[in-house]
Amino acid sequence: MRQQIVAGNWKMNKNFDEGVELTRGILEKVEKPQGLVILCTPFPHLRDVGKMIKVRKNFHLGAQNMHHEEKGAFTGEVSADMLASVGVEFVIVGHSERRLYNKEKNQLLAQKVNVTLAKGMRPIFCCGEPLHIREVDTHVGYVSKQLKAGLFHLREEDFRKVVIAYEPIWAIGTGRTASSAQAQEMHAAIRILISRKYGKAVADETTILYGGSVTPATAEELFSQPDVDGGLVGGASLKPDDFAAIVAAMK
Ligand code: PEP
Repeated sequence: MRQQIVAGNWKMNKNFDEGVELTRGILEKVEKPQGLVILCTPFPHLRDVGKMIKVRKNFHLGAQNMHHEEKGAFTGEVSADMLASVGVEFVIVGHSERRLYNKEKNQLLAQKVNVTLAKGMRPIFCCGEPLHIREVDTHVGYVSKQLKAGLFHLREEDFRKVVIAYEPIWAIGTGRTASSAQAQEMHAAIRILISRKYGKAVADETTILYGGSVTPATAEELFSQPDVDGGLVGGASLKPDDFAAIVAAMK
């Protein structure tokens, strides 16, 4: 069964006390989610937020990144094992901000996917095109390359654990959301690619999230698209009322 998910990506926002407060607010406002709710907090908050949400059904803990090597002399880095040891279940891999600011390339992302899975966690693998690619109408090919290079080396058994997040870069943090038709077009194309590689049954069961300025005003229509299975939410995940409204829009 395909899972419906709303994941909040807090990015580099909220100090520890503010993060605890935000979690409290979200737990208060979100009632009986229809699908999974994942809170992807900054590293220092993970353990405590994990304890706070543990008691609530359908709430899960996510990290925003981790290092691609298992361990060693990588000062300042955080490993998959460390994340798993504090209860992390999902890890965002390949967010466009990391691709851009940290120069993360597909080969490295494939390694991150592998380490995430090896430690029993599930990757939320981000893909999406920049504006100039969308403008020349080559976005499906662009995203297809990202998926092939980052994910399609996986065995079916592992691929089934992956969540995909389609996030057109021109819509992230810009207030400009893709239309529901644009999101559906890409999500359907992604499902066809998966189907060609792993078969229709796997494609039908893969969760594909939309990300890019999702708000309470846009969530319902986006999530009502047949191939949109929820959202990866940045800015609106920092406001309990907005986040709760987006969670409530899950079908
Ligand atoms: C994101 O960070 O993945 C994101 C989609 O951000 P925003 O919702 O703020 O566009």
